[in-house]
Amino acid sequence: MATRPLSFWATIVFVFFLSCKGKTSFVLKLALLQDPRFPQLSHLDVQEILAAAQEMTAQKFATEIDFSLAHEGFVEDFFKSSSLPKNGDFIIDEEYLLQEFRKKKNSALAFLRKNWSLKDLGAYFPTGSYESFWQNLFLTYRQKLATLRNYRLKNGMLLLNHKPYESYRSWKKIMREQNLYDFILTNHFILYDEVAEPYPHVIFKHAKVSGSSFDSPKREGPFMGKSAMMSVFELYAEEEYFLGERTKKIKNYSRSFRNKALGGYLLAHEIGHMLFWISDVYDHGRNCLMDTRFENLEIADGYRVLLEHPEPCPRCLEYVEARKKIANLYEKQEIEKILDTLKDYPKPNELPFETIRQLLGKKYSP
Ligand SMILES: [Zn+2]
Ligand SMILES: [Zn+2]
Repeated sequence: MATRPLSFWATIVFVFFLSCKGKTSFVLKLALLQDPRFPQLSHLDVQEILAAAQEMTAQKFATEIDFSLAHEGFVEDFFKSSSLPKNGDFIIDEEYLLQEFRKKKNSALAFLRKNWSLKDLGAYFPTGSYESFWQNLFLTYRQKLATLRNYRLKNGMLLLNHKPYESYRSWKKIMREQNLYDFILTNHFILYDEVAEPYPHVIFKHAKVSGSSFDSPKREGPFMGKSAMMSVFELYAEEEYFLGERTKKIKNYSRSFRNKALGGYLLAHEIGHMLFWISDVYDHGRNCLMDTRFENLEIADGYRVLLEHPEPCPRCLEYVEARKKIANLYEKQEIEKILDTLKDYPKPNELPFETIRQLLGKKYSP
């Protein structure tokens, strides 16, 4: 039997200690919403994905999470039940999106400055200023849209079907309205059309959304007005264009491996956003589940790095501890104490304060 390095045992003891200390567990109400045009998730797939997510959140956040499958159906029906434009009268208009991209330049520049250093952005392409980076981002977005517009899947079908659920902005709206689920698992393509916030890693990844967390202020449970979703499209669709160069070369690219990478990297990462209110980070280190640097652009790469660095991220654990304290206070409705705890949150200005305000009766200001 191979001897384990000391750091391995130190990690085990550390995780055990934390799990005893903050024994809060969370149960997410899950919906499986599929689009019949794309490869489907079976129950076995769902089980594998969720098990990998549970394992990773236990390892990285020292937190027990569980899922209860509350609904299975078509994504189209979920959107029909909302106040969004009904299916059939929704067009993904490329010209409009590019116009908006240009119009929102100032807010996009502020967004880039707030979240990334020029050095971080330099991983995408060498850049001397935020202005020139934005310019390149615009050209990249335009090129992605031009490809997606006429993209045909292997079976000859057009990728885009011009339905509201293919638009990220529609997702944001419906998740804000809904009061049914904490997490949605789906299998279709979602276009990133929130152009005032041009996340470089999203635009580079084919202007496609694989996972996101949302404000759902009507959901008053332990998640305090947050929800999230993940799409398996990228790893299920088997479309060359959407797979990264390194992913294509993975030898054991089995369904089971894909499920583990989706659950252990992507889904667990979204839980970091929705539950612990941690933003994408670039400086926590390679053991961090929330690490969103350029090198993690391919899902399989992000997952592999986490397997190589199994220890929890101490900086994320600060969020976890603060969030568990808030969850316990919220259950007892001790609002004043929550307001105090929020002040000690690692990055109070990144808190979802709009939903917090709504839930706490508009008392909170960052
Ligand atoms: Zn993220
Ligand atoms: Zn971290």
